[in-house]
Amino acid sequence: MTYFPDLSDYTYLPLRNPMLTIGWLDRDHAFTTGPVPPQVIAALTTLAAHQHNITRGVHNCHFCDEESPLKLPADARRGYVFLGMGELHVLAPDGTTYSAPSLIIHYILQHNYQPPTEFIDAVLDGQPCPLNFC
Ligand SMILES: [Zn+2]
Repeated sequence: MTYFPDLSDYTYLPLRNPMLTIGWLDRDHAFTTGPVPPQVIAALTTLAAHQHNITRGVHNCHFCDEESPLKLPADARRGYVFLGMGELHVLAPDGTTYSAPSLIIHYILQHNYQPPTEFIDAVLDGQPCPLNFC
């Protein structure tokens, strides 16, 4: 997958509004590790049911051999959400928009990735980005 440092300008695909990148990791660049509140993981899993910029290909995890496509249990109705083929967009209360690959959930759960505090705050206090906004 394409690497972007956390909090850099999103340039992966054309976009309607500026976004900052979060969790675009690869194995050539060290990343921050640490605890992430379970509410953040739950909120990201909810967002993963409505991913943005869905791609035809599936991105695998660069850090492990877990079978692709990666999936997570969602609610009883949906069963699973699939990771590695779209982005999660979060709109912070101050208007900042963040784009994270859906694999960010796997990175947090399996590889101890800790996103920047401002993104964690945006997930907790912000809202999903409307599909026609970014
Ligand atoms: Zn992995």
